[in-house]
Amino acid sequence: MEKLIRKIIPAQVLKQFRLLLQLPTLILHRGATYQCPICGYKSKNWYVIGRDSNVYQKWQVISGGERKAGCYKCHSTDKERLLYIYLQDFLKQNVTTHYQILHFAPERGIYEFLSKLSNVEYITADLYSEGFQYFAKKIKPIDILNIPFDNDFVDLIICNHVLEHIPDDRLAMNELYRVLKPGGHAILQVPISPILEKTIEDSSITGEEERTEAFGQSDHVRIYGQDYFERLKSVGFKVMKINSFENKEFFGLNPKESILLATK
Ligand SMILES: [Zn+2]
Repeated sequence: MEKLIRKIIPAQVLKQFRLLLQLPTLILHRGATYQCPICGYKSKNWYVIGRDSNVYQKWQVISGGERKAGCYKCHSTDKERLLYIYLQDFLKQNVTTHYQILHFAPERGIYEFLSKLSNVEYITADLYSEGFQYFAKKIKPIDILNIPFDNDFVDLIICNHVLEHIPDDRLAMNELYRVLKPGGHAILQVPISPILEKTIEDSSITGEEERTEAFGQSDHVRIYGQDYFERLKSVGFKVMKINSFENKEFFGLNPKESILLATK
């Protein structure tokens, strides 16, 4: 049905229609307390996203669990807004004449921002795209465990909350390192516990309920502890945490979430 509607009604008209449907919500929640840096919508609150779990609470996992962090207009989350704000400055400093970005599991707001940049070749990829309707056709089904690029190929990799889904995350890290140019950067965000030294994982836990109980979400295979950084270093990355952002509350960022930047 949706396909038929899309065929009959031009995309521009559909967009207007969606905005019209959104209007009562946007009027209800508009205010001056917060602003979404991605779409510019000013609101008095955010909507609730995520799902709480005992294991997230126990290990105080950053960027996991239930929280008020959804934008009523563009539906961005705190994780996406942090990435968006960081990329603004980062790209100003780093983009050269021909700059290649490889983005796994792209978020819509970031995708729209990056795909419009000049001097940037923007490659988008997703592992789990089978049967999943993405918002953009350009997203390629690239396997993070076997990236079909030469060594030293891309300038920047963005992998926002992907590694916690992948059983062999060290192989994925190796592949990310391999395709990155020397001096290149990778933004490798994961849900992480600040109080857990050693990552919790158990490959014998495969059921959805069991994984939710053990790792906080049915499609997660671990809870990263502070040894995450050692794992990244073990494949060759240098790693730093960046958390010097202004107006965190105003832009709806999680004050505890840092950008995890790896460099080759
Ligand atoms: Zn927004």
